[in-house]
Amino acid sequence: MLYPQDFDVIVVGGGHAGTEAALAAARMGSKTLLLSHNIETLGQMSCNPSIGGIGKGHLVKEVDAMGGAMALATDESGIQFRILNSSKGPAVRATRAQADRVLYKAAIRRMLENQPNLWLFQQAVDDLMIEGDRVVGAVTQVGIQFRAKTVVLTAGTFLDGKIHVGLNNYAAGRAGDPPAVSLSARLKELKLPQGRLKTGTPPRLDGRSIDFSKCIIQPGDGVPGGMSDQMPVASFMGNVAMHPRQVPCWITHTNERTHDIIRSGFDRSPMFTGKIEGVGPRYCPSVEDKINRFADKDSHQIFLEPEGLTTHEYYPNGISTSLPFDIQYELVRSMAGLENAHILRPGYAIEYDYFDPRSLKSTFETRQIGGLFFAGQINGTTGYEEAAAQGMFAGINAALQVRAMGGGDVALSAAGSASYMGDTWLPGRDQAYLGVLVDDLITKGVTEPYRMFTSRAEFRLQLREDNADDRLTEMGRQLGLVDDARWAAFSRKRDAVSRETERLKAIWVNPRNLAAEESERVLGKSIEHEYNLADLLRRPNISYAALMSLDHGKYANRDLAPPVSRETTDAALSVEVAAQHAFVAAVVEQVEIAAKYSGYIDRQKDEVERAAHYENLRLPAELDYMQVSALSIEARQRLNKYRPETLGQASRLSGITPATISLLLIHLKKGN
Ligand code: FAD
Repeated sequence: MLYPQDFDVIVVGGGHAGTEAALAAARMGSKTLLLSHNIETLGQMSCNPSIGGIGKGHLVKEVDAMGGAMALATDESGIQFRILNSSKGPAVRATRAQADRVLYKAAIRRMLENQPNLWLFQQAVDDLMIEGDRVVGAVTQVGIQFRAKTVVLTAGTFLDGKIHVGLNNYAAGRAGDPPAVSLSARLKELKLPQGRLKTGTPPRLDGRSIDFSKCIIQPGDGVPGGMSDQMPVASFMGNVAMHPRQVPCWITHTNERTHDIIRSGFDRSPMFTGKIEGVGPRYCPSVEDKINRFADKDSHQIFLEPEGLTTHEYYPNGISTSLPFDIQYELVRSMAGLENAHILRPGYAIEYDYFDPRSLKSTFETRQIGGLFFAGQINGTTGYEEAAAQGMFAGINAALQVRAMGGGDVALSAAGSASYMGDTWLPGRDQAYLGVLVDDLITKGVTEPYRMFTSRAEFRLQLREDNADDRLTEMGRQLGLVDDARWAAFSRKRDAVSRETERLKAIWVNPRNLAAEESERVLGKSIEHEYNLADLLRRPNISYAALMSLDHGKYANRDLAPPVSRETTDAALSVEVAAQHAFVAAVVEQVEIAAKYSGYIDRQKDEVERAAHYENLRLPAELDYMQVSALSIEARQRLNKYRPETLGQASRLSGITPATISLLLIHLKKGN
């Protein structure tokens, strides 16, 4: 049956990539259909219920800065918040939250159901409709044909998914969900380059059977602003007051006995006996992999993380395994506090198809089939955050393609303010971790599941969590993704930062009117001549708070004084107080970081500007590299195969040397 309505964008898959893709496209005015196996699993966390972390938190803040859902859903569902690397520089500081998985899913579902221009439909997609070299729709399991101008495929770990526990295995998309077998076969027929990867998850434990008195408690940090940086004006966005009850995590350890038990199962491990062919994530290895690779370590730390407020289920982070169940049972019970632990669900590994992202254009549209975009785990990544960021990116580019084809309804965009006229949006490596992620995938491809790290970003001093909004919200607004409330919150913060920076520059402190002991106390020594407060703030040992305490608070800005928190039964008031605390903290942080790191940041900006010309130089789409005789045969073959769109992308392809780039540049300059 042909469904009576046509759509602009169909998103297949309601995981973290699919939900952000669908929300972004719909916000931009595209008539969007989200097709997924099961409406009950929209936004489901397949593995541990946690969002953020180093590099990953940066991506979440970027999605948030552009109006995405992940950070807000985390604020609504986060039961523990921590700032990782809090004693290190701001570039590597990252927010991590433990989430209640039921609350998280509920928050995502509510956002999807209330999004104008977005339709949800529960059905497995078994086939794609293709006319010529373009996708024109998707066909479901019961034969319903949905037509659309573009399709974003976000099938996660489901394509030909196979679960392994010991030497037993069965077809599944993840535990409890069916695999996508027909769709996988169809994609293979289309000859899109693909491979197999694997990931794994630990057994889950019943908290009632854990002896927490033998474990180490790990409380949260009480983060003022939570995950979303959209400072509320008077709304419920990104606010510590909207967090549910906070609970601790716990720590136990593996020991020599645990390691012996694990080793005794190696001969029945699907990984070590060759049953699993797919490559797993090196940075998130299974416990058997850790024991095998780091044989000299006699103990590993295991975090016991609560899965929610209304369940006793615990996630033992650090013992992901596909060993046989009898070994899982023994290894769990060999650890302190877990002697009587009851396993609620066995751990397992899953193998699935992924598609070589080097065959994608820089918008994530496949080169072979027009209008077909891929995002999320299907592109060889791992992690909710990497998936969400890619989903939003693909959703934006699908919606822009629809607009360029004369479709979509800009006037209907949630923000009602879209002004961006381009037909693609491609953030640079210097603008966003999202830019780094996309560029790494399309130029380098993957040899194992890709996860984000701050070390992947060469311009990380300017790609901080704390300035994600400054880097991206204006673009989000132009694209039609950022609604009026977010825009107002962002503008308020940006204006306050700029006003305060100017104010500090205008206040001069003179050695004559500053008592010597006051100068010693705050500045560490007497000042020899007049300085303005902005200059003093550049000094590493002088904080904003210290400057504001000079001369009994003479220079303090009353607008940036943290409000006095008071006990109240009025929930709305405590939301306001929490919001103002978060606002003040965020403004002061920006003023302080901008002052202290301005020298480094300016240098990095200069570097970006110098490289920009060559980085963005477009390579002719029709160029036949085999005819560029100055290049080595290997370089010609690689360039012809992956067809980079810019010189910058070409320079990051493996096997392409700086010498090749110089020769290519000479060829282009000659106009050949
Ligand atoms: P998914 O979240 O997998 O969502 C895919 C969605 O597509 C689902 O809703 C599914 O129902 C739907 N779908 C698929 N095919 C079809 C179809 N044909 N028709 C309709 N709907 C379809 N990440 C980490 O960072 N660390 C880990 O330790 C980790 N361990 C993991 C362990 C396991 C066992 C699994 C399964 C995943 C693990 N992950 C881990 C990965 C993490 O879950 C994914 O990276 C993330 O969920 C990917 O998001 P996604 O949106 O791409 O896909």
